[in-house]
Amino acid sequence: MTGDASARRERRGGGVAPPVTLLTPVTYLKGVGPRRADLLARLGITTAGDLLMHVPRRYEDATTVLPVARAQPGQDVTVLGRVISKGIIPTRRGLRIFQAVIQDASGLLEVGWPGQPHLDRTINIGDVLLLSGPVRIFHGRQLAPREFVNLGADDAGTAGGRVLAVYPATDGLPTKLLRQLVDAQLDALLPQITDPLPVNILQAAGVPALPDALRLVHRPSSVKDAERGRARRAFEELFCVQLLHRRANQLERSARDGITFVNRRKFTTALKSQLPFTLTAAQVRVLREIVVDMTSPLRMHRLLQGDVGSGKTIVALFAAMVALENDWQAALMAPTELLAEQHLRTFTRLLAPLGITPALFTGRMSAAERRAIATRLASYEPLLVVGTHALVQDATSFGRLGLVIVDEQHRFGVEQRKALQAKGATPDVLLMSATPIPRSLALTIYGDLDVSMLDEKPPGRIPIVTTMRAESARDRVMTFVNAQLDAGRQAYVVYPVIEESERSDLRAATQMAEELSGGVFASRRVGLLHGRLKSDEKDAVMRAFLARDIEVLVATTVIEVGIDVPNASVMLIEHPERFGLSQLHQLRGRVGRGADDSYCILLGDVSPESAERLDVFVSTEDGFAIARADMRMRGMGDLFGERQSGLPSFLVADPLRDEALIPVARAAAEQVLQSDPTLARPEHQALRELLTGRYRRALELFRVG
Ligand code: ADP
Ligand code: MG
Repeated sequence: MTGDASARRERRGGGVAPPVTLLTPVTYLKGVGPRRADLLARLGITTAGDLLMHVPRRYEDATTVLPVARAQPGQDVTVLGRVISKGIIPTRRGLRIFQAVIQDASGLLEVGWPGQPHLDRTINIGDVLLLSGPVRIFHGRQLAPREFVNLGADDAGTAGGRVLAVYPATDGLPTKLLRQLVDAQLDALLPQITDPLPVNILQAAGVPALPDALRLVHRPSSVKDAERGRARRAFEELFCVQLLHRRANQLERSARDGITFVNRRKFTTALKSQLPFTLTAAQVRVLREIVVDMTSPLRMHRLLQGDVGSGKTIVALFAAMVALENDWQAALMAPTELLAEQHLRTFTRLLAPLGITPALFTGRMSAAERRAIATRLASYEPLLVVGTHALVQDATSFGRLGLVIVDEQHRFGVEQRKALQAKGATPDVLLMSATPIPRSLALTIYGDLDVSMLDEKPPGRIPIVTTMRAESARDRVMTFVNAQLDAGRQAYVVYPVIEESERSDLRAATQMAEELSGGVFASRRVGLLHGRLKSDEKDAVMRAFLARDIEVLVATTVIEVGIDVPNASVMLIEHPERFGLSQLHQLRGRVGRGADDSYCILLGDVSPESAERLDVFVSTEDGFAIARADMRMRGMGDLFGERQSGLPSFLVADPLRDEALIPVARAAAEQVLQSDPTLARPEHQALRELLTGRYRRALELFRVG
């Protein structure tokens, strides 16, 4: 046996590990056995490359820690110290507290974790902990950590001078371990990474290239560094989504030419001249945007955003007039029969002097009535029809549908909106939304639409008096409501759920309607409206309210949209903490529609956190500000609901926080697509692969040939 052969055997036997690549399975990494590999897989990490993309959730800045001797009760502090003793202390009430004493150069501090005796297993004497949380008095000073990072026994030297990355962790795989795993591979892996985004795009956006960004993210020397790294990844997500949106928009426009309407100024001028008010500057601007779209040969695909009461309906009517004066049909779809009827009344009144009679099309009409309208729609007669989803459900066909308008578009599913559009060959489309969000965010959420903003309300609106009242003020509140009813006004009382559930103490609408009509409103006509009623039952109740046959309408949020009952002056909302701010804003928009004062009262005892949140609503009537606050607190998905399918979801980007990056991402996407619409050029190959690998939709959008 020669020495040569034994050396070879040793090499093959694993004495020297092969170089780690991005695709190396984590099981091959030092320190990862089968158990840890399983845990890593749970975090979505199976390769070394995945590990690199597992980015910290947040950072602890060990450069700004407070000497423990200076931590005072009542303060919220971040401290760094070594564990010198520890133990589990039982309390009389059966709670077990894990306690440790930490030491730094300035002295000692006790730390207590009530109810977490298991920490005894992971925190050892000698470990250095970075902790933050409030200091309280508990047999002396004690820190109650809100969060902490165990830096381990030998990390003290490095921790003092840098920022610590806190990774999304899982049981058995603490952040400390993840940090070690990433750190051990970082230098070998980063040089293997090439940035899929073109250099000029990165430069224009002012973000670092991917390898630099990942180094900043995993091994930052300051929190600001880490943020620069994060911004690179956020930008990538926003850029990709804009690429998809803009490409979809491009295809949609070029696939089918639209109708080229002519701005004849026949009906529109006549309508303007006999409006009972002058249009706001915002309405004029938005109308111009719509007319430009309609008179261009491309299809309009536009979203009109405007706060409650900003006057979207009249804008829609002008657009319909442009269609009609070109001998095309226009259809407006509303989410409820009541709202459709309301629009029809408005339109009928405003169009009478022009000799135009709009038509109604809802499920509530008799079959014969519907058939009569359907016959006219199937002909070439230029007609404005206002209806519900009956417009798409029935076997209706349009002879010359040129314009589709969808009111309160978030109330419809994507399919319903598409189905109405499909009733015409290439109709222009105007969607209307009452949850106004900043333009840049709208471009992210509704990326393949053009967006118009109605950011001004008609003059002379009386502010709605909004207040928050504690449970103890209930009697006084009810007395106030009764006084309003005495004055001939009407009131809404809104509850978050329909029926009392055993688990909660919510004052359900059904039960409360009974209680109120037997109690404080015994002498009043009380009605009940909730989502489980059939739509004709709902409409009957709303009609009775409109006719003042009902004075107090107890309801769930079904009354949220569009309804205009000017005589209603009180919106009383129970359990306000159960509602999103935008939802509350929609509810409040149901009052303040007449000439007199109106009131929105939030009633009930709420937690201090809820009170703080609700304060945003109480203190402003600006729907943009409210939507923004709502998004910040609840996230976009919640705000726009399940129905807005196609809502982009982001891992890193936060459209609110990264708002400034959105226009940059959009401009960059447009620039790339202008020169290379299918991303076929070699310099875009990596980008193409990124898109098609990550977004299913990209496969069809960027199909070549
Ligand atoms: P929304 O944007 O919530 O759909 P509407 O279109 O229902 O709002 O308009 C709310 C009210 O404001 C309606 O009564 C409408 O007639 C009125 N309105 C609309 N535009 C103006 C204007 N320029 N000046 C005065 N009142 C207006
Ligand atoms: Mg409306």
